[in-house]
Amino acid sequence: MHVTFLGTGSAMPTGERFQTGILVQNDGRQLLIDCGSGVLHRLQQSGVGYENVSTVLLTHHHLDHVADLLPLMKARWLAGEEHLEVVGPQGTKGLLDDLLSVHEYMQGKIDLQVREVVPGEFTVAGFDVSAYETRHSLPCLAYRFDDRFVFSGDSEAFAGLANFAEGAAILAHDCSFPDDVDVSNHPTPETLGRELAGREIGRVYLTHLYPHTDGRHEEMLESIGRQYDGDVRFAEDLKTISIDQGS
Ligand SMILES: [Zn+2]
Ligand SMILES: [Zn+2]
Repeated sequence: MHVTFLGTGSAMPTGERFQTGILVQNDGRQLLIDCGSGVLHRLQQSGVGYENVSTVLLTHHHLDHVADLLPLMKARWLAGEEHLEVVGPQGTKGLLDDLLSVHEYMQGKIDLQVREVVPGEFTVAGFDVSAYETRHSLPCLAYRFDDRFVFSGDSEAFAGLANFAEGAAILAHDCSFPDDVDVSNHPTPETLGRELAGREIGRVYLTHLYPHTDGRHEEMLESIGRQYDGDVRFAEDLKTISIDQGS
């Protein structure tokens, strides 16, 4: 399995990190998780291309996770790829209907399938996925791909989510701000370290980074390291990780 970070930023631009998007690939299958602003460009830069991604799995409906959905739809339509499946939490059908009612000329241009999912197990684009509800300001799902990859979506750090991630080779976790930012709905390094303490996880990548984290990576890693002694790194746009089955 390959996981490519297309966007490791958040709702406020850093100039280097686009909004959330992660590409999961295995055996010729591709799944895009979230489609924030800039992700359409990153898909093209990644060499995979928007033509080859026909399924999008949404964690939640904040703009920094859905802003490029219609641009992706239009680019695929122009390229002659007339199918797109969008899978996401409750309200995803309403979101797509509403977006298409604003941009009416896109209605009926492509064969759009929308599926809503709830916490639990399901299959999407040939991947077996588990979903777990996170703690955020909108309903949000974290996703797990067997023992290989877990993405937190947007969430505070909490024991339930750390349990959900336990045993994964790779965990990509929201770590929006450094410790001195007073924040709810997202973790800080300190709260993330506390919840990860003692967990068996192959490697943790920090993502969903606000500009506040610029120049402060070292202290953020130190803060996490005070409670969690595992391998923790910062995710970067267009970085690809190879994950072996069962690793
Ligand atoms: Zn959010
Ligand atoms: Zn977000």
